[in-house]
Amino acid sequence: MIHLTPPGNLFQDQYVTRASELLRTWQGEVVHSYGLIGVPLAKSSISHSGAHLAPAAFRQSLSSFTTYAVESGCDLQRERIIDFGDIAMHTTDVTESHKRIKDTVYELLQENEKLFPIIIGGDHSVSYPAIAAFQQARGKTAVIQFDAHCDVRNLQDGGVTNGTPFRKLLEEKHIEGDYLYQVGIRNFVNSEAYVHYVKQAGVRMVTMEEVETVGIQSVIQSILKEVGEKAEHLYVSLDMDVLDQAYAPGCPAAAPGGMTSSVLMEALNLIARSPLFSGIDIVEVDPSVDFRSMTSKLSAYLILSLLTKRMK
Ligand code: CA
Repeated sequence: MIHLTPPGNLFQDQYVTRASELLRTWQGEVVHSYGLIGVPLAKSSISHSGAHLAPAAFRQSLSSFTTYAVESGCDLQRERIIDFGDIAMHTTDVTESHKRIKDTVYELLQENEKLFPIIIGGDHSVSYPAIAAFQQARGKTAVIQFDAHCDVRNLQDGGVTNGTPFRKLLEEKHIEGDYLYQVGIRNFVNSEAYVHYVKQAGVRMVTMEEVETVGIQSVIQSILKEVGEKAEHLYVSLDMDVLDQAYAPGCPAAAPGGMTSSVLMEALNLIARSPLFSGIDIVEVDPSVDFRSMTSKLSAYLILSLLTKRMK
């Protein structure tokens, strides 16, 4: 008698649905709910980055979790995340890669009116074409950017990088300053000139100190109130380096002084209930320096948590 299973076969329990089973490969059908779009671009990163490996690590990390949320009693097993695959990046040309991202995201949003995109970068530069496309396809969009950095570097010193996405979005008028909310900005990773720039542009900047003193609940509730009064859609751009390095060791710009994963989860869970919330990107995870896939697993966990909160 021989005892064999297929290569790479995971342990199966008949009473357990793995979160990776929520993924369905796109077959060209119209998508009415969640769609995963991988954006494996890291050549635009100022520092060394393997963030192009993150979409695959994210998909893999879903298999670490079940679909059942014990706290709410919700089970995601009837939800579907349609996996559009990855956008093909140009080997060397960042501008061409950004064009491909913008064109692809725009067309998918146009052809799938109810699609809720879950965009997995890549470095943070991918948010520039992704948000530009989102705004163009969907209309007046407010953006909550969770980030340690303002990401409004000048373009003369290094061209278009993961330090410039919000500079480009503001300068090219894809979003107005008062439609951008930067949450988690912190000490010793920004400069006075860029803080001045965002304030001049009318951006609402929430520092880590404000998050800690006022509390994340009040911060997010006040942002959601403002957004509800002026925007048609809310998009979240989540740079995982908003987290303290203890919670996100796989970020190229990992540093101390950031959020805990439970504070970030609380923020996203509040946002998840907003009827305007209709798209998210998660960026700046480099699986090649991650420790025990902690940062990729956290990305997957945050998305599952968010999906549960959005269940009717
Ligand atoms: Ca960033």
